[in-house]
Amino acid sequence: MQFSERISRITVSSTAAVVAKAEKLRAAGANLVDFGAGEPDFPTPEHIKQAAVRALSENFTKYTPTGGTRELKEAIVDRHAKDFGSRYSVEECLVTVGGKQAIFEAIVATLNHGEEVILPVPYWVSYLDIIHYAGGRAVLLETREADNFAVRADDVEAAITPRTRIIILNSPSNPTGSVMRREEMEKLLAVARRHKVLLLSDECYCHFLYDDLPFSLGSSDDREHLVIAGSLSKTYAMTGWRVGFALGSHKLLGNMLKLQSHSTSNPTSIAQKAAVEALRASQESVRAMLKEYHHRRDRIVAGLRAIPGVQCTLPQGAFYAYPNVSAYLNRDGLADTTVLAERLLEEAHVAVVPGPAFGTQQHVRISYATSQEMIDEGLKRMAAFFAKC
Ligand code: PLP
Repeated sequence: MQFSERISRITVSSTAAVVAKAEKLRAAGANLVDFGAGEPDFPTPEHIKQAAVRALSENFTKYTPTGGTRELKEAIVDRHAKDFGSRYSVEECLVTVGGKQAIFEAIVATLNHGEEVILPVPYWVSYLDIIHYAGGRAVLLETREADNFAVRADDVEAAITPRTRIIILNSPSNPTGSVMRREEMEKLLAVARRHKVLLLSDECYCHFLYDDLPFSLGSSDDREHLVIAGSLSKTYAMTGWRVGFALGSHKLLGNMLKLQSHSTSNPTSIAQKAAVEALRASQESVRAMLKEYHHRRDRIVAGLRAIPGVQCTLPQGAFYAYPNVSAYLNRDGLADTTVLAERLLEEAHVAVVPGPAFGTQQHVRISYATSQEMIDEGLKRMAAFFAKC
């Protein structure tokens, strides 16, 4: 059996590979500290689950419009307007199967073979594979750890060529937790406008900012050069429900909808009802989660910095820390961070994701979306592991 050239350009997400390995160990009875999974440990709030139960008992179980119900689109644009002062119409909103589908469709609908996408490093794993799948070329833009992995609009502009079609921005960032300042984001949008390219702003973590107020580029009125990918996954602890969205020009969303109509069709009907509840009801649970993540951020960063040789920038958003462990590489057989992560998992039963998944060689990603007790236990095990190396 021969497979397509297109499919051979991509690999299974390496974060998913770590999760699978950790799962296997857990099934074998290991007492695991899981810093690998990029998802909230909180359950979906009860009132959201109840909305899905109601949808089921009311038989809201059939196809909906491919791009989501009007009720949900209204809830998305209203919530976005309330939170960020944006002014999207329902026609400028597309409901997708998670934020990931919005990103996939935006890239596939925009990119021609051989065209370029500017991608800041470190990047979230899936961008690179989606660009390759679409036949595009990723132009990797290095950022500086000493500068908290900040993306600079001037650096992006310098990387633009006549073949550039898309700039990807992910603030707060997975994997670094780095947050781009509002003025810099606006400057970047001006760069996109000047060069007539599309800025794809992945704002899946935009509600989780620790040192600043939440901000979305969607507060600008630019529709032509900006598409926002959003998600309910992290904000409402709804990763398994698979509800995300895109906000952007009606024309772009129409082309994305074509892809959706021939692949997944609509996001699950009952999940859409739950999403309406999440967006319309009190946002108290979001505030409570943010407060807890803030404590955890402080705890994990302090603990990591206390391990001799480990350096860690301060994540300003999302729920990831991205420590530099280069002091331990080439010691005790630790050839690279992939070997280090494997040994950490096997010997200390701590799951982390090695940096190459995100384009860097000296780091591992730690998700602190886990309890403070687990964080303390994981830090203790990591300190003991490194002390032996
Ligand atoms: N973008 C980033 C940066 C992410 O980390 C994730 C999930 O981990 C997503 C998008 C997609 O999330 P979902 O498809 O669950 O909405």
